[in-house]
Amino acid sequence: MDLFEKCYQFSRANEVIAAGVMPYFQTIQENHGPIVKMEGHDVIMAGSNDYLGLCHHPEVLEAARAAVTEFGSSCSGSRFLNGTTTLHIQLEEEMADFYGTEACLAFTTGYLTNQGVISTLVGRNEYMLSDKENHASIVAGALLARALGGTIIRYGTNDMADLEANLKQLPIDAPKLIVTDGVFSMSGRIVDLPKLVELAKKYKARVMMDEAHGVGVLGQDGSGTCAHFGLPVAGNVDLIMGTMSKSFASLGGYIAGERKVIDFVKYNSQAFRFSASMSPAAVGACRASLRIIRREPERVARLIEISRLIREGVKSYGYKIIEGITPIVPIIIGDDMATFGAWRKLIDKGVFVNAVIAPGVPQGQQLLRVSLIATFKQEHIDRIVEAIGEVGKELGLIG
Ligand code: PMP
Repeated sequence: MDLFEKCYQFSRANEVIAAGVMPYFQTIQENHGPIVKMEGHDVIMAGSNDYLGLCHHPEVLEAARAAVTEFGSSCSGSRFLNGTTTLHIQLEEEMADFYGTEACLAFTTGYLTNQGVISTLVGRNEYMLSDKENHASIVAGALLARALGGTIIRYGTNDMADLEANLKQLPIDAPKLIVTDGVFSMSGRIVDLPKLVELAKKYKARVMMDEAHGVGVLGQDGSGTCAHFGLPVAGNVDLIMGTMSKSFASLGGYIAGERKVIDFVKYNSQAFRFSASMSPAAVGACRASLRIIRREPERVARLIEISRLIREGVKSYGYKIIEGITPIVPIIIGDDMATFGAWRKLIDKGVFVNAVIAPGVPQGQQLLRVSLIATFKQEHIDRIVEAIGEVGKELGLIG
């Protein structure tokens, strides 16, 4: 059979397009912060990861421009060779200072960071314990680590009893890395970090936490899940991973931790050495965002307040949502086409959210993922809640 046969047979996407309910690859024609233009009309963006609304902040835009003026549009090479600028070094130092770690390394994306770090650290006769709900890029790292001889064990999401049962099976002196999201990207749940850290210490495992959705979102200073639980990073979480594409309003990824470990990754990670470095504009924007987060932590408090208002509003209609405090508000719909249909009605009413189906979530848990931005005004909050209520009534999703 021809290799491409599966491509010729693949018709699901076209069927959804023909039904007029394709929620993916939606084109943004204009972007004005929380309001974007799609399909020729203005919609409220409630499906972005620009949690702090910094993508349009004048200081961030100016920093991106200044970086381009100084260093050009691209680094034209990897960090290893010609792609390291003083901006990259400054960003890494500032990020390490933010987390109170010895060092930090900036990758080109968060995906590459997870894939690169995990596959560099876990190999033959070594173990990785990974939460089942971890992000796809952690799974990519795990697959590569496995190909390199590592053993990968998946445990139930945020299920510390299951994690402990797995840890117990392993020799106490076997090298192990527990990897978890700080905030799970589809459910918005927060990891039980105090218990996870306790188990890691008891069973002598290292901990790596993906803070893609934690940084800028949790903790009074916005530094993430450790701050949320009042746990200093040092002495509790060995490696903090993050992306610059969400609260940092840019593009890139990072890993922060002990200098010796960061240096090992720097010299050994294929994903780091063989991929062009973050562009100057991205580094400039990220540095400015970090500065703003540190200077104006009230943005984080506002985001949490907006999340509370939206969660309460949606729940008041009788929707089933996954409880929590984060700006990821998952509304369970439970079926592909019903989820797409609700998505369509919402965008027609001027609100863009994300429709999530398997494999993003388990079958039966298909959901609308509403994600929030700290710069929403009251009118945006009211309209999002109202539109979600209208759609629920029109489609019979709520009583
Ligand atoms: N980890 C998590 C939890 C994420 O949600 C994402 C992005 N969706 C990534 C890693 C990858 O980050 P990036 O977009 O920078 O590749």
